[in-house]
Amino acid sequence: MAVEIPIYMDNNATTRVDPRVLEQMLPYFTEKFGNAASRNHSFGWEAEGAVNNARRQFGALIGADPKEILWTGGATESNNLAIKGAAHMYAEKGRHIITSTMEHKAVIDPCKRLAKLGYDVTWLEPDGYGIVYAQQIAEAIRDDTILVTIMWANNEIGTINEVPEIGKVCREKGVIFHTDATQYVGKMPADVNEAGIDLLSASAHKMYGPKGVGVLYVRRRRPRVRLEPIMEGGGHERGMRSGTLNVPGIVGMGAAAEICNNEMANEAIRLAGLSHKLVNGITGQVETAVLNGHPTRRLPHTANLSFPYVEGESLLMALKDIALSSGSACTSASLEPSYILKALGASDELAHSSIRFGLGRFNTEEEVDYVVDKVIHAAQHLLMMSPLYDMVLEGVDLSKVEWAAH
Ligand SMILES: *Cc1c(COP(=O)(O)O)cnc(C)c1O
Repeated sequence: MAVEIPIYMDNNATTRVDPRVLEQMLPYFTEKFGNAASRNHSFGWEAEGAVNNARRQFGALIGADPKEILWTGGATESNNLAIKGAAHMYAEKGRHIITSTMEHKAVIDPCKRLAKLGYDVTWLEPDGYGIVYAQQIAEAIRDDTILVTIMWANNEIGTINEVPEIGKVCREKGVIFHTDATQYVGKMPADVNEAGIDLLSASAHKMYGPKGVGVLYVRRRRPRVRLEPIMEGGGHERGMRSGTLNVPGIVGMGAAAEICNNEMANEAIRLAGLSHKLVNGITGQVETAVLNGHPTRRLPHTANLSFPYVEGESLLMALKDIALSSGSACTSASLEPSYILKALGASDELAHSSIRFGLGRFNTEEEVDYVVDKVIHAAQHLLMMSPLYDMVLEGVDLSKVEWAAH
């Protein structure tokens, strides 16, 4: 079977809306257009009913009560509300926050903001696999710790942290635990009660729903978590997030959650198989290639590979009919190596030569075969042209060679 070009393999950046999700959203743009906060007529009741149904659908995905589901504009907003909201609400109790250097920018930047405001932030370092362990949290917690925020799975390398174990530690010490579960929820089984989670962020567009909709799970009992709002206004969402609800988007996130819940087990197995095929196919032929992150403690659909001695930009150029993400982020002035890969100990060069393969629901085995073939040819070609690789073959110890010469 022929594959259609370009191939999309960047599902950690965003996913296509599942057609079944879109179908459920459409009526809420047209005949069912009511404001969920309108209490005086059937248009409002209809919208409110749909929003509450979506709360039930998302709650079921993470073992939460529907009343604990708060709608936001995405995981960036959920993270900001969770972190700043808890920090400001509990400032009297203490001003110490624990997080890690592996978090998404949507956690790192709010934490940096709080540090500027006088909060004390501990930045835990992961091990070489990119994992943050519960033991590190236990050692970092102090009497004035009010919040621990650690992501469930990393967006660049897919590594899964010890979230249930961290939740247990936080529960024992009476510290609020927030997790950015944006990459994890909908892909792997999650239960906020079993995992001792008090606050959880998720985003619809990472799980085959629409962009611009997110969830913040806020625990209501044992303990009841309170947050100082960022958005103030009509008092929507238990006063924690004012603003007219994005009803079609919320219906989409609920529908996406229900599909994920029903299909997760089969989907995870299928994607793990494809990812395995991809990684083994490439590393079997390109001997220099290495997998970043943990070999098994990983999201089934995410694989991040480094191609030492190969220039990342040239590699991506050779693969331009495949949508992939590199280990570099474009800032205004330059190409910055990924801080995640650098935290794992990668050099700038290695980070630049890394590629994230983010498989998803709509990828086929034929696409994987095509990608493996393309990557092997491109990497082998670039290796042949690499003076550094020549030196390796000649037995030169590259650790003694100036990388800048590259
Ligand atoms: C995508 C992502 C976010 C941001 O989500 P948005 O809904 O796009 O704001 C936050 N955290 C992680 C881990 C992500 O992958």
